[in-house]
Amino acid sequence: MEQNKILHNGVAMPVLGLGVFRSEEGAEVENAINFAVEAGYRHIDTAAIYGNERGVGKAINSCGVPRSELFVTTKLWNAEQGYESVFKAFDKSLARLQTDYIDLYLIHWPVKGKYKESWRALEQIYKSGRARAVGVSNFMVHHLADLLPEVEIVPMVNQVEFHPHLQQPELLKLCQKYQIAHEAWSPIMKGKADQVETLVEIGRNYNKSGNQVALRWELQKGSIVIPKSVKKERIIANAAIFDFNLTNEEMQQIDRLDLNQRIGPDPNNFSF
Ligand code: NDP
Repeated sequence: MEQNKILHNGVAMPVLGLGVFRSEEGAEVENAINFAVEAGYRHIDTAAIYGNERGVGKAINSCGVPRSELFVTTKLWNAEQGYESVFKAFDKSLARLQTDYIDLYLIHWPVKGKYKESWRALEQIYKSGRARAVGVSNFMVHHLADLLPEVEIVPMVNQVEFHPHLQQPELLKLCQKYQIAHEAWSPIMKGKADQVETLVEIGRNYNKSGNQVALRWELQKGSIVIPKSVKKERIIANAAIFDFNLTNEEMQQIDRLDLNQRIGPDPNNFSF
């Protein structure tokens, strides 16, 4: 398994990243990033709304790995969607992250009536070279079908909730068709993949946990994973997913666990 996915513009994106949603600004997020870098992670997933971009910036600038070897994602918050407002939001994220470019800038949620305008601004930011890649998040099939006919630049990534209980196979197929890299949030179901019997049983074949099996299944589906933890041991465990391979039969067993069940908000029905 390759450690990087090559996006449609040629940029290499590590297929494993550290999520930092609900990692506290300050020592907590900084320590988490230091543990992760030490464990081999080279990709951090934050967002303006997480309120921890300053800590992320501090950690990426002091962790000992050059900025050019790290891949940093941040996201445009819903309240800042539009056209002009996007440039301001982007500049604020850059300032908080203490960096002069972002590796991947995402529209966080498909805000009705706004996301097309926002996308035009992301295209401009991409062309200016201040984001090495741009993409969307929480876009379902119908959102992409609505956006794609009007874009100049096809989004490089779509980051969505994805795990054995929420698979949305049509969305995955559509992303593959347009070479939009598929990225999984809540990839270990907030730690609950360890309570899914089939995952735990499959894990016994490899001395892996249910969480590790979920992550491996996602990678073998072609997705990019960003498990979140602030705990050193868990950060290390969540990265130990490159030394085993699920068989076709095991992949299909996990495919059958789909319940179309969300942990997080529904992109068709959110009010924030
Ligand atoms: P995850 O599936 O990554 O689960 C994180 C939770 O599981 C935390 O409570 C963590 O606690 C716990 N955990 C982590 N590792 C283990 C382990 N090995 N064993 C048991 N428990 C564990 O959920 P997230 O929702 O955080 O998703 C991951 C990332 O995706 C986010 O951090 C964020 O970057 C991104 N995201 C994006 C969204 C979007 O709208 N685009 C929405 C939601 C998330 P602890 O820290 O205490 O270890």
